[in-house]
Amino acid sequence: MTRERLFIFDTTLRDGAQTQGVDFSVEDKRQIALALDSLGVDYIEGGWPGANPTDTAFFSERPALKHARFTAFGMTKRAGRSAANDPSLAPVLDAAVDSICLVGKTSTYQVRVALEISLEDNLDNIARSMEAIVGKKREPLFDAEHFFDGYKADPDYALTCLKTAHEAGAQWLVLCDTNGGTMPEDVFRIVSEVKAKLPDARLGIHAHNDTEQAVAVSLAAIRAGARQVQGTLNGLGERCGNANLCSLLPNLMLKEPFASQFETGVSHENLKQLTHVSRLLDEILNRSPDRYAAYVGASAFTHKGGLHVSAVAKSPETYEHVPPASVGNKRSMPVSSQSGRANVAANLNIEGDKPDLARLLQDVKHREFEGYSYDDAAASFELLALRQQKKLPRYFTVEQFSVTVESVREDGDQMHSRSKAAVELMVAGQKIRNAGTGNGPVNALDAALRKDLGKYSPFLADLRLVDYKVRILTSGTEAVTRVTVESADGKGNRWSTVGVSENIVDASFEALTDSIIYKLYRDKAPA
Ligand SMILES: [Zn+2]
Repeated sequence: MTRERLFIFDTTLRDGAQTQGVDFSVEDKRQIALALDSLGVDYIEGGWPGANPTDTAFFSERPALKHARFTAFGMTKRAGRSAANDPSLAPVLDAAVDSICLVGKTSTYQVRVALEISLEDNLDNIARSMEAIVGKKREPLFDAEHFFDGYKADPDYALTCLKTAHEAGAQWLVLCDTNGGTMPEDVFRIVSEVKAKLPDARLGIHAHNDTEQAVAVSLAAIRAGARQVQGTLNGLGERCGNANLCSLLPNLMLKEPFASQFETGVSHENLKQLTHVSRLLDEILNRSPDRYAAYVGASAFTHKGGLHVSAVAKSPETYEHVPPASVGNKRSMPVSSQSGRANVAANLNIEGDKPDLARLLQDVKHREFEGYSYDDAAASFELLALRQQKKLPRYFTVEQFSVTVESVREDGDQMHSRSKAAVELMVAGQKIRNAGTGNGPVNALDAALRKDLGKYSPFLADLRLVDYKVRILTSGTEAVTRVTVESADGKGNRWSTVGVSENIVDASFEALTDSIIYKLYRDKAPA
């Protein structure tokens, strides 16, 4: 059976840019567009040329797309002006793009209240705007704003708007659930009715996530006949976001009835980039990735319960709905007081004879009670096992360390603080005294600790701290501080270590030294 083509339209750079707290630069947009293109989406909506300096600059130099159609967004012309003379539409029509997607009203309520024009004028605006795109030899798409709400209130007018756009040359009629409040069953019914009334038109769906159902709404529309689906990476978008392409794509490609019925521009090989592309967007936005996100979250294939882990070790399908590799994600089995021996065994990369798993698990549970957590600190767990087996060389010992924080009032009447640290170490029988400064005590300690580690210094040249997390928790009756440090090296390896103490400096120091020791061990530094 030949599969039908389903088109993927990405609007991360346009609708996604309306997310609270998101502000793309031109370079961000370029980088995201290239990543989307290599994933294989069909359309990349870059923004609204002329609406703001970033979008204007982005459209002034077309990104080097190999596959996707570069698309500009805009609004249908305003009443009383020609399309060419409308200052907000003209730059859109002139943009060097393949396709132009114009949003227009299809709800009588919106035409009256928001536009304050006659229903006929709105139809005329739609028709003239679509014709103008055809005149510019670009592919016209019509975003039917508030379509579902409009259709429920006045189906004849909503359909007339679609028909008008279609007859004026629109290649796609994209039905928008702009306010995101429509239920999947209603979307299925309405798209089916539109399909029956306009059998020649190609329909699309643009859903918002205000009922946490944007993906379900999109799938319902596709089942009813929509052949283009719009969404954003990580569900970025105004209010609660848009339909999340990072869930939609795998649902369409890995789940029935979609997988057998449709073909998209994204190959199964490219789908393996999905986790990477999702994280790339977070990296660009300087956000930490949602670890609980479906398919691409760090926890999406994490097995913590002991029973689950031992079953997954026998056969992954026991607790995984799809193979993690199909979306480029990874399975993980953190160690905690919830785990059994199978988690412990799964987290050991130790060569030679295995440690006593029961004793190690006992140790983990005891240390969790003290405030440690190895969920997020696999490197510290490995060190724990190595120490228990007495396999970990004593690379160096810390004799003492101190930190001072000094705040001084400066000329501009602002307080400026400086931190200084001193560390005394023994390395291969030699005493080393290091001093370091930093913008905070932990920073200064890190600088002092790594400044000179004798023969180990070359091993640490490419070590850097990429994340630092502090939690105050109550363990037993005391309040303790848990610090988790994530480190990286020049080869792209990342590892996390943990420290716990009544004070933040000691806890940080423990996590920092664990990080260094882990790197020395992994890179086989001589004892
Ligand atoms: Zn939208």
